[in-house]
Amino acid sequence: MEYYGASIGKLIEALSALPGIGKKSAQRLAFHITAMPEEQAKGLADAIVEARTKVRFCSSCCTLTDGELCPICSSSKRNHRQIMVLENSRDLAAYEKTGRYDGVYHVLHGAISPMLGIGPNDIRLKELLLRLQDENGEAAADEIIIATNSTVEGESTAMYIVKLIRTLGLPVRITRIATGVPVGGDIENIDEVTLERALSGRTEL
Ligand code: ZN
Repeated sequence: MEYYGASIGKLIEALSALPGIGKKSAQRLAFHITAMPEEQAKGLADAIVEARTKVRFCSSCCTLTDGELCPICSSSKRNHRQIMVLENSRDLAAYEKTGRYDGVYHVLHGAISPMLGIGPNDIRLKELLLRLQDENGEAAADEIIIATNSTVEGESTAMYIVKLIRTLGLPVRITRIATGVPVGGDIENIDEVTLERALSGRTEL
């Protein structure tokens, strides 16, 4: 990258460290950024720094947000006794786009994968269990909808969660989103109609 000069070389290197950005895309983006009006480039840099410093996990559902509670958890219009368990915040955004779900969410930030060395303690499972019981030990939810991806990892995570909840002995309905979500498919890449069908056709576990 010597031939570009130090500054642009550094920018290309930083951009190519991002997921899904290869060397070619990084070069294209770097040239685009350096040709931007200075104000716009500064706005982009500021947005990155601001998001990095302000964004945190919602203290209830663990999604990414910038307050103590995310807008969904703090809304009184949502059914707080119906909790949909997802692998990441992008899946949450996909379900929100359907506009057909009025419960709340729980974001695991991953799935159990012995192959990758990701165990139950590496995802936000403990936080989910804590939410299921109130201070008197009573069930704090009526239904848990497990909407992890239909990959091997997603399925074994789903089964693990069912087992965990059953050991608590709470009278909570546990369901799994239905077919419509292709096997091996990532929720974030699925269209809204399919997601809606998967939700309405969920089955008891
Ligand atoms: Zn939340």
